[in-house]
Amino acid sequence: MKNVVILGSTGSIGTQTLNVIGRNTDKFRVLAVVAGSNAEKLSEQANLFHPEYVGLFDINAVKNLNLNYAPEIYAGEDVSARFAALEKADIVVVAITGMNAFDGVISAILHQKAVALASKEVLVSGGEFVMNLARQNNVDVLPVDSEHSAIFQSLQGEPKAALDKILLTASGGPFRGKSAEFLETVTLEDALNHPNWSMGPKITIDSSTMVNKGLEVMEAKWLFGVDYSQIEVVIQPQSIIHSMVE
Ligand code: NDP
Repeated sequence: MKNVVILGSTGSIGTQTLNVIGRNTDKFRVLAVVAGSNAEKLSEQANLFHPEYVGLFDINAVKNLNLNYAPEIYAGEDVSARFAALEKADIVVVAITGMNAFDGVISAILHQKAVALASKEVLVSGGEFVMNLARQNNVDVLPVDSEHSAIFQSLQGEPKAALDKILLTASGGPFRGKSAEFLETVTLEDALNHPNWSMGPKITIDSSTMVNKGLEVMEAKWLFGVDYSQIEVVIQPQSIIHSMVE
């Protein structure tokens, strides 16, 4: 039985993580959940999974918690770092958008907890530092981002030197093939309407501009220790193949 801490449980990745755990209760137990300020959704999740620890980044949101049991509640800017260090934790799922994901990752590594990392911003901005720290502490950083998870899975059982090239797929997003003239007329709603995936708003916007793929190239470089020349982005609108390796 693995005890899981979920940082960003109320978001798209966090919700899916709980969904997976809900279908594998013989293997995983939710030890702690953390959100930014959405106390209503956090309460719903906690009331269902009964984690021992419930945390919020925003201290003003605590009054909106409505719980049917008595977990340990903590609120404050250091909530992720605290919960990632819980003695009972085996794995910390990091699914917070932006730089706020950093504290939880560093804390998990320093306390020798496996990290299931969705928050690509951490590797984009601090990949060298984070991966070195993980190596020094003998901690696994497991990619949650689907492309990187596909690469990770493809490499299981292979020696590191066997990896020649990474083929990172991209759907092209909602504006693939559109003219510059057309792009001047698109709205926020158009950009949020991804043809293949239902994701949180930040990554959906980044996908519409293809900036997300740039972030993923950097993420892949640090996760798999390759040069940028070994990573090729391939547009595949059907999104059937998540990524490939040579
Ligand atoms: P969402 O916007 O759906 O969710 C973000 C989560 O982070 C929410 O639970 C939010 O809480 C929480 N949060 C925000 N700020 C803080 C904070 N300071 N402290 C604690 N919790 C905080 O994002 P996604 O789930 O889409 O994405 C999360 C990460 O995963 C991003 O880095 C994204 O790039 C990456 N990713 C997402 C994919 C997807 O399919 N969605 C695919 C691959 C990668 P609250 O609800 O209270 O605001």
